[in-house]
Amino acid sequence: TAVKEGAPEKADAGEPTIFDKIIAKQIPSDILYEDDTALAFRDISPQAPTHFLVIPKHRDGLTQLSKSEDRHEKVLGHLLHVASKVARQENLTHGFRVTINDGQNGCQSVYHLHLHVMGGRQLSWPPG
Ligand code: ADP
Repeated sequence: TAVKEGAPEKADAGEPTIFDKIIAKQIPSDILYEDDTALAFRDISPQAPTHFLVIPKHRDGLTQLSKSEDRHEKVLGHLLHVASKVARQENLTHGFRVTINDGQNGCQSVYHLHLHVMGGRQLSWPPG
C-alpha cells in the first residue's frame, strides 16, 4: 500500500467532515459501538486485519488532539475506554495499537478527532 506523505486535504477550518455524515448515518459504515458521546466503526481502508476508528459524536472544537481544552477531558478519557472495550469485543487478545494522527506532520487527513485502533497482526515499531 502507498505510504502517505504529510499534506492533509485541507487545513483545519472547522468545516464538516465525512465523519459527520457517518454519525448522521447519511453514508453507510460498519458500526461496532455507539453511545451518546462516542461512535466506533471500521476504517474503510484497513491497515491491519482489525482497524477501527473511535470518534466523539459532538466534535465541539476537537478537530484534532492539539486543540484540546479542559472541557474535553472527560470525552478524551471516554474515547480511550471505548477503544479498549471494542478491542475486547473484537478479540484483540494479543494486543493492539491506538494511534492519533495530529496535523500535517502526523498525517491527519480528517479534521474530526479520531482514535485509530489496529490489531490482529504483529505490528512493527517505530512507525514511518
Ligand atoms: P490518514 O488518512 O492519513 O490515515 P487520518 O488519521 O485523518 O489520516 O485518518 C482518517 C481515516 O479515516 C483513514 O484511515 C481513512 O481510511 C478513514 N476513512 C475515511 N473515510 C472513511 C469512511 N467513509 N468510512 C470509514 N473510514 C473512513
